[in-house]
Order: sequence, then structure tokens, then C-alpha cells
Amino acid sequence: MTQGLLYVISAPSGAGKTSLVNALCAGAPDLAVSVSHTTRPRRPGEVPGQDYWFVEKTEFEQMIANKAFLEYARVFDNYYGTARATVEKMLAAGLDAVLEIDWQGARQVRQLMPACVSIFILPPSRETLEQRLRCRQQDSDAVIARRMEAAISEMAHYAEYDYLIVNDDFNLALNQLRAIVQTQRLTVQRQAPRLERLIASLLG
Ligand code: 5GP
Repeated sequence: MTQGLLYVISAPSGAGKTSLVNALCAGAPDLAVSVSHTTRPRRPGEVPGQDYWFVEKTEFEQMIANKAFLEYARVFDNYYGTARATVEKMLAAGLDAVLEIDWQGARQVRQLMPACVSIFILPPSRETLEQRLRCRQQDSDAVIARRMEAAISEMAHYAEYDYLIVNDDFNLALNQLRAIVQTQRLTVQRQAPRLERLIASLLG
């Protein structure tokens, strides 16, 4: 069986990354998101084991000490990390794995797994981003300003990625994401083992 491929997808919050990734995976049984571990508190509506594995800081630090993470980073005063075992299991089963992680994690993964494919998603404008970050009416200007600052420092790393997508029209962005995935599946390296019998019969 061919090993699955690793996709690393980053974006500032407010770019619509999670909705895009969910839609991408919904129609693709051989593509799945790796569920990260985090120490940040659970938000209303989030499901443990589906959105994140929510753990205490001490547990997370123990996992760091045990080298259980493929990558991890501190984002907004909380730890986030990808468990090595989760990803290895997915790839070994021939599944393509999607990591929704920040630029710090993306850098670590690129070093460890140079064959990964990395994608950065941008919002269509600064105004749209600010509107999307102003999700709750009661958010103060200081809170919005902090989110904007974090978004800008995430976006500053766009050039480290292989592909860049602007999420203005959702369906267009989704089709572009799908096109990237399809392209990787058509490389000779991935196609040849799948087409072994055809190739053997064609070549006599
Ligand atoms: P949120 O708390 O809004 O779900 O995520 C905040 C940020 O943490 C986002 O940029 C998200 O991509 C990033 N993130 C989520 N999971 C991971 C992970 O496992 N590793 C790293 N490095 N970043 C992550």
C-alpha cells in the first residue's frame, strides 16, 4: 500500500480554514483531519476527540517530554500539538492526513517530512478579516486589535508554503483546494503502484 500524504494547512483565524477543510474532507473518504491536542479551554459546541483532544497543561508537557508530538507550538498562551502516533497511523493506512496548524508547527513538519504539501489560506481583504474577527458584538476594540495583530503575524509567513488560496468565494476556494489534492494524487510516484497491473499489461 502506498503511504498517505501529509497536507499542512494554515491561515489566520477568520480566513475560513476550518469550514474549507471540513468541506474538503467530507467528500473524500481517503482524506482525514488529524485531531490536535490543546490546553485551551473548550468552546461551546466543541466536541472532545472531534475538534480537539482537550488536555491539562501538565499532561501536554508530559507528552512533550515523551516526544509524543510530531510538532507543537504555543499559540495565544495555549499549547497546541499534533500527536505523532495519530499521523503515523493515518499515513500507514494509506490515508492522506490534513494538519490544520499554525506557521510554527508547519515549519517543524516541513523539516521532519519534506514531502508534505503546505497550503496557506488568505482572507480576501483586511476589512473582511476584521469583520470576521468581530464575531461577538461585545468584543472590545482592544480584543479585536489583538486578534488582528495575531492574524497579521500569521499571514506574514505565507511565502513559506507551497500553495496560496484566497477564500473570497467559498466554492471557488474549495475547488482550488480539491485541485491541489487531486494533483498530488496524479504524480507518477503515487499513480504507478496503483496502476501496476495496467502498466504491466500495456508494456507486455
Ligand atoms: P483555535 O484555538 O482558534 O482553534 O486555534 C488557534 C490556532 O492554533 C490556529 O492558528 C490553529 O491553526 C492552531 N493550531 C490548532 N491545532 C494546532 C496544532 O496541533 N499545532 C499547531 N502548531 N497549531 C495548531
